[in-house]
Amino acid sequence: MENNYYPFINLPLPYNYDAMEPFIDTQTMQLHHDRHLRTYIDNLNNVLENHPKLQTLSLETLIKNSYKYPCSIQNSIRNNAGGVYNHRFFFDILANPSSEFPYGKLRTAIYDAFENYPRFKELFKQAALSVFGSGYAWLVKDNTTLRIITTTNQNTPIASGYIPILVIDVWEHAYYLKHYNKRADYIDNWFHIINWEKAEQNFTNVHTYL
Ligand code: MN
Repeated sequence: MENNYYPFINLPLPYNYDAMEPFIDTQTMQLHHDRHLRTYIDNLNNVLENHPKLQTLSLETLIKNSYKYPCSIQNSIRNNAGGVYNHRFFFDILANPSSEFPYGKLRTAIYDAFENYPRFKELFKQAALSVFGSGYAWLVKDNTTLRIITTTNQNTPIASGYIPILVIDVWEHAYYLKHYNKRADYIDNWFHIINWEKAEQNFTNVHTYL
C-alpha cells in the first residue's frame, strides 16, 4: 500500500467524488474522504509525532502491534490507524461501472463457501445490517476459506489475523445524507459498485496486506 509510513498523507481518491453516483452521492464521498479520513490521518500523525520509534512502522504493523504500546496511546493508535486502514480499504474497493459479479478464483471461492452469489449477498447484507452502532462488514480470508465478519468502531480484521477481501463501511456518515437511516438501501446500492477486479487481487495477491 502506498503512503504507508509516518507522516501519513491523505492521498486523493483514485476517482472523482461523483464517480459513485447514483449509488453513493458526491457530497458524501467528499465529506467521507476529505473530512472523516483526513481526521484519522491527522490524529494518527499527531500521536506518532511524539513517538519517534513508532514512526518507522508501517500502518499494518502499527495496528497489529497496538496492544504493545503504552496505555496512554494504545487506544488512540488502534482507533486512528484502524480508521486510516479501514477507510483506504473501503474507498479502494469501489468501482463504477462495476462488473457486478465476482469472477476468477474469488468467484470459485465464493461459490464454495456460500453456494452461490445471491446467497453470498444475502448473508453479507445480513451481517452489514447486524452491526450495532458503527462498524464494518467484511469478506475475509481465514486460512484457506472465506468468511463474512463484522468489526465495530475502527477495529480491523488484520488485527485478528484475517486477510481482508471486501469491506462496506456502515458508519452513519457513510450513507446518512442520501439514505437517511435506511442502511439496507445503502447496502443494496453498494453491491452495484464493488470493484471485483480489486477484490480478486486482494484474494490472489494476499501478500499485499500481510
Ligand atoms: Mn467512514
